[in-house]
Amino acid sequence: MHPFRCYLVQKSGETASGSIQNHSFGDPPPGEVTIQVQYSSLNYKDALAATGHPGVARHFPHVPGIDAAGVVVESHSPDFPEGTEVLATGHELGVERWGGWSEQLRCPAEWLVRRPSGLTQFEAMTLGTAGFTAAQCVMALIHAGIDPTRGPIAVTGATGGVGSVAVQILSQLGYEVAAISGKADRAEWLRSLGTRSVISRQEFQSVPNRPLLSATWAGAVDTVGGATLATLLRSVMHRGCVAACGVVGGADLPTTVYPFILRGITLAGIDSVWCPDDRRRMIWDRLAGSWKPAQLRELATEITLDQVASAVASILKGEIAGRVVVRI
Ligand code: NDP
Repeated sequence: MHPFRCYLVQKSGETASGSIQNHSFGDPPPGEVTIQVQYSSLNYKDALAATGHPGVARHFPHVPGIDAAGVVVESHSPDFPEGTEVLATGHELGVERWGGWSEQLRCPAEWLVRRPSGLTQFEAMTLGTAGFTAAQCVMALIHAGIDPTRGPIAVTGATGGVGSVAVQILSQLGYEVAAISGKADRAEWLRSLGTRSVISRQEFQSVPNRPLLSATWAGAVDTVGGATLATLLRSVMHRGCVAACGVVGGADLPTTVYPFILRGITLAGIDSVWCPDDRRRMIWDRLAGSWKPAQLRELATEITLDQVASAVASILKGEIAGRVVVRI
């Protein structure tokens, strides 16, 4: 195969640095598929991989990119013949294996989903793992019996990738959404996506240190973790549910058991990486159908591979609103 461009991260000691390099693959092993990548995206996890975080990528040199959309160019799988348009998300992509910040990627056929007809490749990568995770969070709330009549839903890290897609899906499904955000200048943008109210991160965290707070939320989607997740648990109504997926605010969970045993709440953990394949296909079909955010285009900022380094720095500072789509 011809050489292809990729964003290669090298690590020397504790220091990681990325640059665009040429690379080439040999013949694909049995069961593997080679994809000409057209779009990838930038997730918080990609930024950790791109800066050498040992909890994400352990083997260097490494190509980040936990999402990819493209066309099969070489295949040893009858399920995905040459020319098939596919999406790859989760599994070991961009973590143990080289990911989507590359003109070509190679992965096992089981990691692939055919591009649903309701999404272009660009739209699929606007959603990416963030949108897929947001959909799983909403499904967890529904599974816990939280319907729109039960009360408002809080979304933390609301301008981020997962948060902004969750806001749109929940609003479209008729929920009253309260966005918790550190970006005061994005309040109108959040309202335009369907948010009913916007609460500043600082105000949200300025609460008494009691085991239980006023029962305010029927449910929540938490992308932040740490003290933010603990505050949500203390302020969810009786038999409410918090879907927790993120860690941008910390991995500790300073809580007591009281919200669980006095209010009967549920803490639903969300994992996008090892989601079973039939469920993964079902979620993509839903995202391409009735749950497709009406204002998906409003979330997307398109960049090229040459611009990922500065976008990585921005996402790590919590500065990005919506989703960054990487045109390969
Ligand atoms: P983004 O960086 O796009 O969004 C995170 C948002 O959180 C920011 O935009 C900001 O929103 C808010 N934020 C940032 N820093 C802090 C802080 N220190 N304290 C409180 N809020 C903060 O990330 P993603 O949406 O891609 O991912 C969000 C989280 O979800 C990450 O931890 C990621 O690893 C995790 N994740 C987990 C998955 C899973 O399978 N479990 C899958 C996908 C993501 P604002 O300014 O509006 O407050």
